[in-house]
Amino acid sequence: MFASEMDPYIKTGGLADVIGSLPQAIAPQVNQIDIFLPFYREIKRKNLPVERIQFEFRIKIGARTYKGNVFRLKTELDNLSIYFIDNYRFFGQRAQLYVKNGKDYRDNLSRFAFFCRGALKTIINQWPTISYDVFHMHDWQTALIGLYAELSRFFQKNPLPLRIFTIHNLAYQGKFSRSQYPLLGIDKFHFHPKRLEFWGKVNLMKAGLLHSDIITTVSPTYAQEIQTEEYGSGLGYLIKERSSRLLGILNGVDYKVWNPETDPYIAANYSINDLSGKKTCKIHLQQAFQLKEDQSIPILCIVSRLVWQKGMDLVLKVLPRLLKQEIQFILLGTGDPILENQFNEIGSKFPNKTGIALTFNDQLAHQIEAGADIFLMPSRYEPCGLNDKYSLKYGTIPIVNQTGGLADSVIDYIKNPKNGTGFVFNYFDEKQFENAIKHAIRVFNSKSEWHQLMLRGMKKDFSWLKAAEEYIKLYQKRI
Ligand code: ADP
Repeated sequence: MFASEMDPYIKTGGLADVIGSLPQAIAPQVNQIDIFLPFYREIKRKNLPVERIQFEFRIKIGARTYKGNVFRLKTELDNLSIYFIDNYRFFGQRAQLYVKNGKDYRDNLSRFAFFCRGALKTIINQWPTISYDVFHMHDWQTALIGLYAELSRFFQKNPLPLRIFTIHNLAYQGKFSRSQYPLLGIDKFHFHPKRLEFWGKVNLMKAGLLHSDIITTVSPTYAQEIQTEEYGSGLGYLIKERSSRLLGILNGVDYKVWNPETDPYIAANYSINDLSGKKTCKIHLQQAFQLKEDQSIPILCIVSRLVWQKGMDLVLKVLPRLLKQEIQFILLGTGDPILENQFNEIGSKFPNKTGIALTFNDQLAHQIEAGADIFLMPSRYEPCGLNDKYSLKYGTIPIVNQTGGLADSVIDYIKNPKNGTGFVFNYFDEKQFENAIKHAIRVFNSKSEWHQLMLRGMKKDFSWLKAAEEYIKLYQKRI
């Protein structure tokens, strides 16, 4: 597998959770699984027990040649290793992964082209002592693997592994100006609308879509949506053309990490058999944010990147009205500085009813999931979404827009009172969202009804087992 993030080593979003848990779910059913990641500064600082591979490579990008090293980390599982591709300039010295002050690094194309080529060089160097049947790439950062492999002399003489490309979020495509195209080191032939060219730019996501044998994405509904103009981010037509090779597999949840019964970060553990710990978590959360300590006030919460996709503008519209009622609101998130400011303003207007934490804090994310009552996720689109599934497990009722993986995971209580697990509104619309919240608050005030709703969600199983089986089936297409 090739990826740009992996929990617990490096994380900016859900991709890291997936790469942190999917390989472990797959490992029991394959001989060997290795993961290739960039050796970022944050990972280096962890001083992991890595071993240096006796292999140094050089890659020419434009007029310059860059050296690379490789480090291997063995994991607790015998057949699962991580390879870190190292280059100080590209990965070793920067605090953030892709952006600085909200702007993409200007050399992102070079960085990830270097990573893809370095990973392939490492693989070819070790072949056939270590050889692979499958190359599984994730998102644009690793999308070039399929194309580079196809173009390499080595894989023209040796069997090319089955190439699987997984889209975690189609909106992030790795688009760069045409002037950067030569840095890829491939023939002009590939700069063409039917190949990597996209409205005059280079589009790395296209390389993944075109140079893979199978395309997957992270929920069945998103697999349908991305074939349309509305959700296709300009590539819907291409995905539709390749739809016979497309499959939506809903991401799982790592219940070793996200489980209120065992979670070490929360004030008290709890389960469906004994929910008293959740009350303790709620009081702790209210204390942490200096809110009134009162079980009868519903805590609405959000843990999210603050970006357009997540529909935070809708939250900002309804919140001032909602805060006139007896509710509390807690937000943990980072992202768009405009949204950050707007949430800060709401925080200062309603200091006794809100807690705004504009940081990235994994521990706090767990504490919020455990202590809150309602989780808001009004995403405009959502490839899979994880916090809705974490919320279900923690008995924190999700309110979601009916899109992507949210539509595949949360059952609407209003339409389906017997099986409902949360509140699902139909359109990305202020009124619809507000009505869903108001309805949820009404149900919250009816204790036994709310209790049943919590239990139904907590019983849902989104573990990786099912998804892992589906991936294994794909891998076996050529094994
Ligand atoms: P996306 O990948 O689009 O960001 P997901 O719902 O798939 O959305 O995954 C988001 C993941 O990132 C979750 O594990 C969530 O808890 C975590 N997360 C997002 N923002 C923060 C934050 N500010 N602090 C801690 N964890 C966060």
